[in-house]
Amino acid sequence: MYLNKHFSEVAESYLFSDIAHKVSAYQAAHPEADVIRLGIGDVTLPLAKPVIAALHKAVDEMGDQATFRGYGPEQGYDFLREAIQKYYAGRGIDLKLEEIFVSDGAKSDLGNLLDLFDVSNTVLVPDPVYPVYVDDNVMAGRTVKYMAATAENHFLPMPDADTDADIVYLCSPNNPTGAAYTTAQLEQWVAWAKAHHAVILYDAAYECFVTEPGCARSIFEVEGAKEVAVEVCSFSKIAGFTGTRCGYTIVPAGIEQGGMSLNKMWLRRQTTKFNGVPYIVQRGAEAVFTDEGMKEIQANLDYYRKNAAVIAAALDEAGVWYCGGKNSPYVWLRCPAGMKSWDFFDWLLENAHVVGTPGSGFGPCGEGYFRLTAFGDADRTKEAARRLKDALAKLK
Ligand code: PLP
Repeated sequence: MYLNKHFSEVAESYLFSDIAHKVSAYQAAHPEADVIRLGIGDVTLPLAKPVIAALHKAVDEMGDQATFRGYGPEQGYDFLREAIQKYYAGRGIDLKLEEIFVSDGAKSDLGNLLDLFDVSNTVLVPDPVYPVYVDDNVMAGRTVKYMAATAENHFLPMPDADTDADIVYLCSPNNPTGAAYTTAQLEQWVAWAKAHHAVILYDAAYECFVTEPGCARSIFEVEGAKEVAVEVCSFSKIAGFTGTRCGYTIVPAGIEQGGMSLNKMWLRRQTTKFNGVPYIVQRGAEAVFTDEGMKEIQANLDYYRKNAAVIAAALDEAGVWYCGGKNSPYVWLRCPAGMKSWDFFDWLLENAHVVGTPGSGFGPCGEGYFRLTAFGDADRTKEAARRLKDALAKLK
């Protein structure tokens, strides 16, 4: 047998284990320190009550022969696909049911979609970047190119005359920078993709955080995007499904080449390699879109948004540059006093007992930047912001 040699080309991911080691070493040396973690992008609020009720009901159905369900449709039950269709229709986006595929989360689909593309394709990703896009492609042996996301382009790289790739990943609102494309900016990306016969893999995992007018929640807000874009989304951030696992991908019927349809290929891929998301989980996800579900979920999102505002206010007071935090649970700040990302990590842990994520862990353009998340407890976030502000004041 011959192993996939490309696995040896995947960079080791030390970011979160390095953070964990540093924090435990610090705690061992300073057992009295009350460390607040604003590093990892996991949610903390529990599932909404309507979701829990739907899960319980579905569990009971599974215990009764009359309502028991075995294998379901690989692409998801119609009740959930219809609810997703309605969610998009509410924003003026018309989707066919066959274009909606339910999955066990965005991460799996972001990797699995690559089954549909030849290994010779060149892939373009932003730098800094959610590392999954890069690793999925390196594992498959594809060439990955980077486009710089910097303060100058507001961490939202745009195509220019030199931009050349077959597959482009766009993530908006972005992890890690929190920056969000406007619909007008996405129009330029769609026009570029059409002109270059490229495909856009659009990660909308954080769309629920968008509040500012003009910012896009879906690439399908752009006319013609259905000819060039696939959208991957998730219940993880909108409804706290990080541990429950459910997401969905929109593969438009209009993307075709040489008589092959991307939508039909994806259906074929899923029916071959995937046996669907548990019925119970899909019922829970369906409840997200009910009036009661949405009400509670919006309150949860507001809770996280307030955390982001608290962090942002502390940075404003300290005169530290940042972006994100408005349409995103992530605040991306420029490390003060010209510190490098890891130096600021150590400094913040030492001086405020607050943990964040060094921007350099997401790519070279992240050097000198730092990510804080709004997914924590409100009181702890307030305390962290107070400490952050006090510590930054001493730097001046
Ligand atoms: N896409 C982005 C940009 C993310 O930050 C994450 C998780 O943090 C995911 C996808 C993964 O989402 P899921 O939990 O649906 O797999």
